Amino acid sequence: MDNEPWDVIIVGGGAAGLNAALVLARARRRVVVIDSGEPRNRFAPHMHGFLSRDGISPLELLEIGRGEVRSYGGEIVSGRAVGVTGEAGAFTVEVDDGRMLASRRLVIATGLRDELPDLPGLTGQWGRGAVACPYCDGWESRDSRIGVLATSAMSVHQASLLRQWSSDVTFVGPLTAELDPETRAGLEARGVRIDPRSATAVLEDAEGVLTGLTLDDGTTLPLDRLFVGPRLVANDDLLRRLGADRAETPLGEWVASDPFGATSVPGVWVAGNSAVSHALVVMAAASGAAVATQINADLVGDDTRRALAARSVRA
Ligand SMILES: Cc1cc2nc3c(=O)[nH]c(=O)nc-3n(C[C@H](O)[C@H](O)[C@H](O)COP(=O)(O)OP(=O)(O)OC[C@H]3O[C@@H](n4cnc5c(N)ncnc54)[C@H](O)[C@@H]3O)c2cc1C
Repeated sequence: MDNEPWDVIIVGGGAAGLNAALVLARARRRVVVIDSGEPRNRFAPHMHGFLSRDGISPLELLEIGRGEVRSYGGEIVSGRAVGVTGEAGAFTVEVDDGRMLASRRLVIATGLRDELPDLPGLTGQWGRGAVACPYCDGWESRDSRIGVLATSAMSVHQASLLRQWSSDVTFVGPLTAELDPETRAGLEARGVRIDPRSATAVLEDAEGVLTGLTLDDGTTLPLDRLFVGPRLVANDDLLRRLGADRAETPLGEWVASDPFGATSVPGVWVAGNSAVSHALVVMAAASGAAVATQINADLVGDDTRRALAARSVRA
């Protein structure tokens, strides 16, 4: 066990975890971030929609963040947290190198995984020619030939939104045959083409640029950009071990938390995609900051109780 307990262990060093660490370190709390170095957007060369950082590499954002956290005395441990036990005031987190770290409070900011549909060529294009989020990549896809792969009932929202960026949108896949008449009419009225054929592969040119989809009748649908709705899977092993309550959301079951990220387990908070699956980077960072202020206030209460107890012992 590393010697003195940390005030706060933060598991996950993406935008959410690092911003929580930054605010806590600046509040003179002893804070350590455990991070396995696989932020969800690592496949994308550029990050968009973050005021003052628009267009930089997502990995560069985190490198800057780690430097800022360290500059206030926060520590970053490279590794995966594989176990957690304890309760508010005395948590123990096990890192995959065997280290055991103790803390008074915990932030879980481990994000989520995007599980892509099984379509040849898709994985290699992920984050470049094939993307998920209109607000992240819609501008870069403006006025181009956009395909939206129908992967679930939620894909209709992508198809509907993307018409905002281009007049050349094709909503493709057998699931489109299940659209209710009103939704279909609305999409078609706005000029979205609906194609019920199955995609069998994602195509790219010799430079690795996405060029379209092969369809099950052997024809090619030429495209510049493909939008896909992956299955979102929370990286929530630690929260399950802690027994945190879960709740239904429109995108599936997720850990339950209050508007400030507190879970049902006293002393445990969530931030970023661990709290809400739709959080963009700036939202993840903001939620990390919000969680940090809540935890600091909670620790101040704890510090006060301890000080009063110590005074009554002395008296
Ligand atoms: C291809 C793609 C492109 C995107 N582009 C944009 C964009 O342009 N703009 C935008 O705003 N959003 C974008 N997003 C969304 C963006 O990725 C998320 O908003 C953001 O990553 C959420 O931050 P986070 O800190 O919650 O999680 P993450 O950034 O995913 O960070 C979680 C961290 O926790 C670590 N971790 C997980 N489990 C453990 C563990 N057990 N122990 C230790 N560490 C662990 C991971 O390695 C990772 O470093 C994009 C998403 C994708 C998939």
